[in-house]
Amino acid sequence: MTAQIIDGKALAAELRAELRLDVETYIQQQHDVPTVVVVRVGGDAASGVYTRAILRAAEGVGMAARLEQMPARTSSEELQALLKTLNDDRPTHGIIVQMPLPGQLSQQMVAETMLAEKDIDGISLRSAGNLFLGLPSFLPATAAAVVEILERTHTPLDGKRVVVISRSNVVGKPLALMLLQKNATVSICHSRTRDLTALTSRADVLVAAAGRALMVTAAMVKPGATVIDVGINENPDGSGGIVGDVDFASVQSVAGAITPVPGGVGPLTNLLLLKQCMQGAWLSYQPDV
Ligand code: NAP
Repeated sequence: MTAQIIDGKALAAELRAELRLDVETYIQQQHDVPTVVVVRVGGDAASGVYTRAILRAAEGVGMAARLEQMPARTSSEELQALLKTLNDDRPTHGIIVQMPLPGQLSQQMVAETMLAEKDIDGISLRSAGNLFLGLPSFLPATAAAVVEILERTHTPLDGKRVVVISRSNVVGKPLALMLLQKNATVSICHSRTRDLTALTSRADVLVAAAGRALMVTAAMVKPGATVIDVGINENPDGSGGIVGDVDFASVQSVAGAITPVPGGVGPLTNLLLLKQCMQGAWLSYQPDV
């Protein structure tokens, strides 16, 4: 068997086109431009690339996008003050705080300060709580991108066995909750899981998000399974390229469908932030009930 390769770039192009239409409609109806603000404190070259990619993606669908760059020595009070200003700023519809933060700043403070209505990466305490309770919520973008791929490829989830390799707050935990809501039978694996292969080899859908290059081999995959590779790792062959957590070359001969790296989950992640920003923008115009 040779797996169907899930083309993340093509799915992203579909979503981008839908977003462009949504933004156009919003501007025409509300006479307002949906706006996303990225907050970056200090930051290295990699986070700079990531930030520019978000800003470009937003502008590419017709949204306004702005960077609030703060110095690396920013105090907790200063960051909190900026977040409160953005919370109160009506023209700002979505806020993204670039992680990781410098050591003197806590993600918890950000999660407690950011208004859930503008928290388009699903990190605020209320967003996390709503997700836990199965209430409408903004979702961490990478986890949301995985679900978007499964939905757009019509992958059955109801009653299916799904294994997620990760219990991180940004991928594994939120994704497991989202899949549970779709009636999948979900197992969460992590670095202390014993006999990982015994679990993964029974999965109808396997999501790998461990951040370990090529760790998922053909022997770990059920024939015909859908394999979603979230990992972004340096290629251990020293070529300077990137590879996922899945050994694509061997797994594609066993799986039914598989996402490549690059070109799988990655292209959708930023667009999910923007999709949620649009949801927030529309909601900001709902009459109070
Ligand atoms: P993380 O916080 O380090 O979480 C990794 C998770 O994988 C942890 O739960 C860890 O278990 C588990 N794990 C590590 N090694 C394992 C092993 N050998 N067997 C089983 N489980 C193992 O990483 P993250 O921030 O969630 O990111 C994960 C990967 O996704 C990275 O490669 C990252 O670059 C990539 N990523 C991709 C996108 C995208 O858009 N495609 C976005 C974000 C991140 P413990 O909890 O026990 O440590």
